[in-house]
Amino acid sequence: ATPMSVMVGVGRGAQEGVLIKNAEVLEVMENVDTIVVDKTGTLTQGRPELTAIKVYGDWQEADIIKFAAAVEAQSEHPLAQAIVRRAKHDGLSVCEATNFDSITGGGVHASVDGRQVLIGKADLLADRKIDGVDAGREQAAAQQSEGATVVFVAIDNALAATLAITDPIKESTPAALLTLHELGLRVVMLTGDAEPTAKAVAAKLGIDEFHAGVSPEEKHEFVRKLKSSGKTVAMCGDGINDAPALAAADVGIAMGTGTGVAIESAGVTLVGGDLRGVAAAANLSRKTMSNIR
Ligand code: ADP
Ligand code: MG
Repeated sequence: ATPMSVMVGVGRGAQEGVLIKNAEVLEVMENVDTIVVDKTGTLTQGRPELTAIKVYGDWQEADIIKFAAAVEAQSEHPLAQAIVRRAKHDGLSVCEATNFDSITGGGVHASVDGRQVLIGKADLLADRKIDGVDAGREQAAAQQSEGATVVFVAIDNALAATLAITDPIKESTPAALLTLHELGLRVVMLTGDAEPTAKAVAAKLGIDEFHAGVSPEEKHEFVRKLKSSGKTVAMCGDGINDAPALAAADVGIAMGTGTGVAIESAGVTLVGGDLRGVAAAANLSRKTMSNIR
């Protein structure tokens, strides 16, 4: 039977916006020593804005936004929403994309108006032998070193544009990280985003360990390895790409603002996506377990 104080603990968590799935989660949370966090949507607001467009070839900026928005309309990724919102904001009519295909942690592809449109990270486009990716990378570097995510757009196998997308850090994130560090927890950031972008965000937040260009499988693998080295790991994430790692962690912590798949894979959900809930959960667990003993 579940001890009364655990039920009380779960109830108290709920009041603070920390939804704990079951008693076991609250018990394990006490022993967590390492917090693995995703960047986009977890540390950042996850409501990114398209702030700069660099066009390659003969395209017009409006064409790029139309093509990109047509494809991204079918994606759940926060970056996709930035592009779709921009098209709406600019009052552009966006046609329907067909043959949509999503490469989790890489990008998206579809046919639009008889053209092949591929959108995603530089490495994905390079893998698909798109022309002009290197020129785009050079242009992207300065924006990335300021923390922007740069998304590459190819139309019919040639680079057509780079889109700089900025996603501000959540207001609550710095305080959340400070508290986690005060609790003696080690924080590691994993992101599918590019190295210079990850470096800029990590520096801003005082995160000393981060890994960039990490695929969903690698996030999962990273958590698994930490566990087999004897660590007790909580993984915080919001996306489909985080779901395998959330499920593999000792405690999976999903942002309530994230996708359903992430929430289903996690033992804890933070209402409103407030990362301060991680420290709250750790404190609650410590208190509850010491009450039982
Ligand atoms: P994160 O770990 O930061 O949440 P993801 O693993 O979801 O990032 O994505 C990694 C990278 O893949 C992104 O930075 C972006 O360049 C690219 N990407 C993924 N999905 C999309 C999409 N729908 N549209 C454009 N680019 C995408
Ligand atoms: Mg994310």
